[in-house]
Amino acid sequence: MDDSAERRAKGILVLEHVKIIRKAKDQRLIEGLSSEERRIVASHVLPSSWYPYDFYAKAIDLVHRHVSHSNPEAARDMGRHLGSSLFQGPYAQFLKEEDFEGTARGFITVWRNLFSFGQVTFSKPKPFNADGSMTAMVGNIEGFTDIPRALCLMLQGFVEKAFEAAGTKEFSITEISCASLGADKCVYRVAWPSVPEVLVAPPSQGR
Ligand SMILES: [Zn+2]
Repeated sequence: MDDSAERRAKGILVLEHVKIIRKAKDQRLIEGLSSEERRIVASHVLPSSWYPYDFYAKAIDLVHRHVSHSNPEAARDMGRHLGSSLFQGPYAQFLKEEDFEGTARGFITVWRNLFSFGQVTFSKPKPFNADGSMTAMVGNIEGFTDIPRALCLMLQGFVEKAFEAAGTKEFSITEISCASLGADKCVYRVAWPSVPEVLVAPPSQGR
């Protein structure tokens, strides 16, 4: 059985790329789509409705190649832009202020709202470098074996905005592996400065 028919992406994701395709003068964008997909582009896309993931992935790939000229930073920017509007708007409730672990849990819920398949998991935070000055956790995106490179880059910008919107100031996101580059899943590491011990447990005032 072909389960690809079950894979869906939420309209709030699809909307921005549909707008770009509509406005673009480049015919290669429309020509890259099937007649069914062209109907979606011409239709009124509803933010809360589900759309075929294959269409979304194709739209992202076409825009990335023909509008952004395959610039990785442009794809990340698109993800940041999406993240800014969603995490300061409808998804703000899922973020936990200055709490990486809580925000990661919230992000898992956000993911289920945006995609009907696959999953994101985060490992427990643990000391990252030898002197313990950094903490890190690893995020895995599973079930997206045919993810376009542009979507993965977008997701990096999107994840970045989730942590940023949660009020966390200093952190880095590093790509470890990518399904679009042949790995079995996309893996990122989120690292941030460890809270100094003295702030966690102030020394007791001895006798
Ligand atoms: Zn990836």
